[in-house]
Amino acid sequence: MPTPTDNFASEASLTSSPLPREGGRGDGSQPSPQGALAHPLPREGGRGDGPHLGGNAHDGTRSVAIVGGGPAGMALALALKLHGVAVEIFEARTRPAVRDDARVLALSDGARQILDWLGVWSGLSPTPIETIHISHRGGFGRSCLRADELAVTALGWVLPARDLIAALDTAVANAGIAYRENVKVGAGDTAAFPLTAFAEGAVDPSAGKLRDYGQHAVLCSVSIAAPHRNVAFERFTNEGPVALLPLGDRYAVVLTCADEVAAQVRSLDDSAFLDLLQRRFGTRHRFTAAGPRTAYPLGLRYRKDPVAERQVWLGNAAQTLHPVAGQGFNLALRDIWELAQVLGGAADPGAPELLAAYARGRQADRRGAIGFTDLLLDSFASDLAPLKHARGAGLLALDLLPPLRDFVAKRMIYGARAWP
Ligand SMILES: Cc1cc2nc3c(=O)[nH]c(=O)nc-3n(C[C@H](O)[C@H](O)[C@H](O)COP(=O)(O)OP(=O)(O)OC[C@H]3O[C@@H](n4cnc5c(N)ncnc54)[C@H](O)[C@@H]3O)c2cc1C
Repeated sequence: MPTPTDNFASEASLTSSPLPREGGRGDGSQPSPQGALAHPLPREGGRGDGPHLGGNAHDGTRSVAIVGGGPAGMALALALKLHGVAVEIFEARTRPAVRDDARVLALSDGARQILDWLGVWSGLSPTPIETIHISHRGGFGRSCLRADELAVTALGWVLPARDLIAALDTAVANAGIAYRENVKVGAGDTAAFPLTAFAEGAVDPSAGKLRDYGQHAVLCSVSIAAPHRNVAFERFTNEGPVALLPLGDRYAVVLTCADEVAAQVRSLDDSAFLDLLQRRFGTRHRFTAAGPRTAYPLGLRYRKDPVAERQVWLGNAAQTLHPVAGQGFNLALRDIWELAQVLGGAADPGAPELLAAYARGRQADRRGAIGFTDLLLDSFASDLAPLKHARGAGLLALDLLPPLRDFVAKRMIYGARAWP
């Protein structure tokens, strides 16, 4: 594989290994496509009318088509460009609409390294997580993961998704990458490209495995009476998990609730919402003010195979996970990193053996992240007494056994590389 150019040069460790190294130190509702097909793309085997669609298919001279200009699509475009692979992004919405994302992301140290490599990290102002406190309401046992014990600057970083998307968008523009907004790609429209990377934000239900958790996530930012000291909380309750992520001097809240009550919870007035949050979270912090709420449906959907003939699926289009373990975009970045490594320098980026190698290389990490998230939800969902005790014992063991704690933290930070 060729070494990446430009701003890769200073990141020697990243150019020579398939994934960011352990122990690295840091510095510091699905959008629905609305646009019409403004520039028709070629039909299966056909040719398009748009000026960007000329040339021969599959001859190694054409660019990779990226369907979806959200965070995964833009990160992939930058990664491929850095490896010398030409790309073109097609996005159903306008650029400002894509930037308008209410989610708050907790990113791992592995993700930080990849975003740094893409040249977007230095412009961001994330809040570091120094401690993660995990507990279960009404059960005994709790566990704390600490950055200093793992010899990393932070266990993760929290930032608004819109800040990250804006930084990626600026980098895409600066790199001169074609970003065609208001273009909704239909089936077969990109067949003339040697490779189509689908980053369209959702797994086609007919192609993916599906699990509906019957839950929504209600997002909100809250003020607190005492400083957060960079502690994140993951609190499991019988109504679903509550996550508190330090963001600036406030907490970003991800409050999970049953589908039936999500609309009601979202529309509570501020003081009723704060009461509910306080009851669900407990007394470790006192909440004093709440911002506007947004809600997202939660489920697990994933494609068993992320590749097909001249096609690859990335980001939420490959796997959409419950946000409980904050794995979704972190996993997407590791997939993107690996794909760029595999395709870099190839004469034909859609060659079947390359796509197969990519899928093989990503299998363990994908399965691990999907299974880890699902297991976490299952083990905290039941109210049966034996399970409650097992949970308590698990949290206690996590707290008492440094190697186990180390493993869980590394799983969250580095993905499959947590395995010895
Ligand atoms: C509540 C919540 C909290 C989360 N927290 C975390 C976290 O803490 N950490 C983490 O790592 N992850 C987290 N995630 C997951 C993370 O938000 C997603 O993994 C990430 O945003 C997905 O980005 P994407 O680019 O794949 O999809 P999207 O952001 O959905 O982008 C897809 C784009 O494709 C476009 N598109 C769709 N169809 C077409 C078409 N036919 N033609 C052209 N364009 C099309 C859409 O308009 C859209 O702009 C969270 C998710 C939720 C719901």
